[in-house]
Amino acid sequence: MPQNASTFLSVDLNALVHNYHFIKSHLKPHTKFLAVIKAFAYGHEAVTIAKRLEKENVAYFAVAYIQEGIHLRKAGIKTPIIVLHPQQSDVQDCVTYNLEPNIYSFKILEAFQECLIKAGVQQFPIHLKFNTGLNRLGFSSEDVPTILINLKSNSTCKITSVFSHLVASEDVEEKSFTLKQIQTYKNILDEIQKEIDYPFIKHLTNTSGTLNYPEAHFDMVRVGIGLYGYANDIKWTSQLQNVGKLYSVISQIHSIQKGESVGYNRAFIAEKETISATIPIGHADGIPRTWGKGKGYITIHGEKAPIIGNVCMDMIMVDVSNIASKEGDQVSIYDTQQTLEDLATNTGTISYELLTAISQRVLRVIVD
Ligand SMILES: *Cc1c(COP(=O)(O)O)cnc(C)c1O
Repeated sequence: MPQNASTFLSVDLNALVHNYHFIKSHLKPHTKFLAVIKAFAYGHEAVTIAKRLEKENVAYFAVAYIQEGIHLRKAGIKTPIIVLHPQQSDVQDCVTYNLEPNIYSFKILEAFQECLIKAGVQQFPIHLKFNTGLNRLGFSSEDVPTILINLKSNSTCKITSVFSHLVASEDVEEKSFTLKQIQTYKNILDEIQKEIDYPFIKHLTNTSGTLNYPEAHFDMVRVGIGLYGYANDIKWTSQLQNVGKLYSVISQIHSIQKGESVGYNRAFIAEKETISATIPIGHADGIPRTWGKGKGYITIHGEKAPIIGNVCMDMIMVDVSNIASKEGDQVSIYDTQQTLEDLATNTGTISYELLTAISQRVLRVIVD
């Protein structure tokens, strides 16, 4: 366990590399790997994660927003980067920083082409996204003929990839829906490839799609959460390693008398004498307020200490009545995937939300 005097997220790059190779071992040798490092690499520190994965020669990175891509370029990341959710106002930055846009609508396509003409740029790499059921972002299959007419009469951009996104790849009950989506995607690919005489990359699956539907890997997989140690099934998660471990410390210990309360709005009232420990981590650090009143817990010397009262902005108070502990002792919020999944399930959320909620004020300590 890394030693530190405050709240910190330990980021284990060896675990990251293990997860990368584990998932890669389930791909065909020629299948490319796109590492999704949006949202600060799911809370883990995007530049550090990108630098480490760049050493492993990942083919692509993806971020959601343009600022995330600019941040990586300014830090010296050279690998191609897809911006999954650009706006019309981002087109100039795509060109300036060599960030490859997801083109999901005619508005974006036209704004982008206008910018490329002005800049005198030819054959800029773009990624066409199709909506095959998620109804979130993307062209529809009916748009294909119009897109092709446009792209064949305009040489400013080049289709580098054509992709879509699965709706429920983690859910076996939705298997028939997923298979239908894969077929819809294949039909779109065929229609485009008939008219475009150069090859382009085809990609469909996120982590759970990659692990559950090997037949849908096409040329590249887009893996996010799996890199950080989480998959939809214990069968997979148990073979992945946890990258992020969140620790803190006991700032102060109080003895609460029967009838006294703890925290804002007196949300905890002691039914008997209670020993509480105050921990310097709160909802501004990414501890959801729904963890209050006993729903969430932390671990101290291997024992569960439930959160009592409401989660404050900068602190939580936990019950240590049955745990021998003292001020200055290190505590863990979570250091295994199982603990995080358990906390997520108890409080009606998912690992993704908890990881990405860890705020920027929490120190990241890199372990390599
Ligand atoms: C976030 C995202 C992914 C990664 O999903 P995981 O479930 O974290 O692997 C892949 N593709 C798209 C389009 C995404 O937005």
